[in-house]
Order: sequence, then C-alpha cells, then structure tokens
Amino acid sequence: MSEGSLSLLVVSDLDGTLLDHDDYSFEPVLPILDRMDENGIPLVVNTSKTRAEWLAMRGEFGNEAPFVVENGSAIYDGEKVKVFGKPRSEVLELLKPLKALFKFKGYSDATLTEIMEWTGLGRQSAERSADRHFSEPLLWQDSPEKEEEFCDLIEQRGLMTLRGGRFLHVLGKTDKGKPLGYFREEEVAIIALGDRQNDLAMLEEADIGVVIAAGDGFMLEAEGMLRSSETGPRGWAEMMTKILDQLNVPKLQQNHG
Ligand SMILES: [Mg+2]
Repeated sequence: MSEGSLSLLVVSDLDGTLLDHDDYSFEPVLPILDRMDENGIPLVVNTSKTRAEWLAMRGEFGNEAPFVVENGSAIYDGEKVKVFGKPRSEVLELLKPLKALFKFKGYSDATLTEIMEWTGLGRQSAERSADRHFSEPLLWQDSPEKEEEFCDLIEQRGLMTLRGGRFLHVLGKTDKGKPLGYFREEEVAIIALGDRQNDLAMLEEADIGVVIAAGDGFMLEAEGMLRSSETGPRGWAEMMTKILDQLNVPKLQQNHG
C-alpha cells in the first residue's frame, strides 16, 4: 500500500470462518492470504481453539503472527503472553458442584475417544484440542431452560459462558473483542470476520466487521456489518476480495503461485 495510507490488520475466527465447519478445509482463502502477505497485511487468528491446535496448523497458512486463543482468553505474541481470562483450574473447580444440578459433559470428564467423536477430529488433533489453559467446553445435555439457569449461575460466580458452534464454553470474563485493543494502533484499520455469537464482540470492536454465513444455514444477527453470501472459507474469500479491492490493495502478481 502507498506510503501514508492506512495499514490493515485482519482478525479472523477459525471454525466456520477461515475453516469449513464440517471438514476443516480452507483452500479458498489461500490466494487471499498470499495477496495479504504481498501487501504486508497480517492475519491474526482469534479462535475458541487452543494454542496447541493453532501452532500445529499455522504452518499450512504460512502464518507466524500473534494469535488469540480460547475465546479471547490470551494473546500469544512471540515470547509474550497476555492473559484476559482465568486459569482452567479455577473454571473446573467452579463446575464441580454444578454436576449434581445440571446434565452436561465437559472435556475434563470425557475420554479422548469421546472428544474425537464430538469434534470429528483425529487422535492428535483431539489431544491438542484438550490441551486447554483457560476454558472448559461442555456438551450440553440438559434442557434449554436449564442451560439459561446454568449460565446465570456461572455469571453470578464470576465466570461466564459462551455458545460456540458445538460447545458451551465456560471461561473467565472475557470475549473475542477485548484482545483487539492490544492490536490497536493509530493508522491501523482492523477488519474482523466471524460466523457465530462468540464472534460478535470481535466484530463490534473492529473497524470493518464481516459476518460469514455459517454452513448450517445460521446467520449471525449483527447491525452495521457486512455479510457474505457464500459460507465458511468461500465466504471469507468472497468478502476479503471485495474489501481488498475496494481499499485498492494491489492484486497478486500474475506470475505468483
Ligand atoms: Mg466460528
């Protein structure tokens, strides 16, 4: 981009946004990531996934930028870690007595095989997904009314819940929007993309918020946001192409890849 112009930073959710909700594929985004690379636009991943999961995956994206894990719980930036959430031990301690009152099964109660079934992940990926430091994903097995009651109780006790694509996450009071302040600098415009309720705070915190149509027909209600017509990574590529074109970010060189 030309000197003196606004620089851009892209912050993105993974599941259902950068990655396909069902098969975790991401081919459609690769040409856009190359175009961003060529123009010095970083991609910061902001995910409900763990540090171990993203570290195992980021090579495929050629990405070494700082990243945000476990729904806004922590930023990893090289050697630096900035924590916004609470240690998982505190979360598990609080959940213990609630098992008698509500029907749910958390990662910590599950075998690796169960986690593989829930997520559709292979053994190694499931292990990385279970390597959590700030949150506990629950498979909710009780009524929606009970879920509401449960969420209220968690809030009263100083933690919070978030509904993701597959799980109800219990974590410290944070969200995907809070860490964006860390990346805020003058002359930086933040573009954020996500598909679910747990992405809303991030989209609202950004200068340009983009709702990606979820693969299962879900479309996040959010005012003043752009919306993709395609789902998942295709929607990501669709919207990022539009935005980069509109902001006159040069296209990839013809001879590239
Ligand atoms: Mg998502």
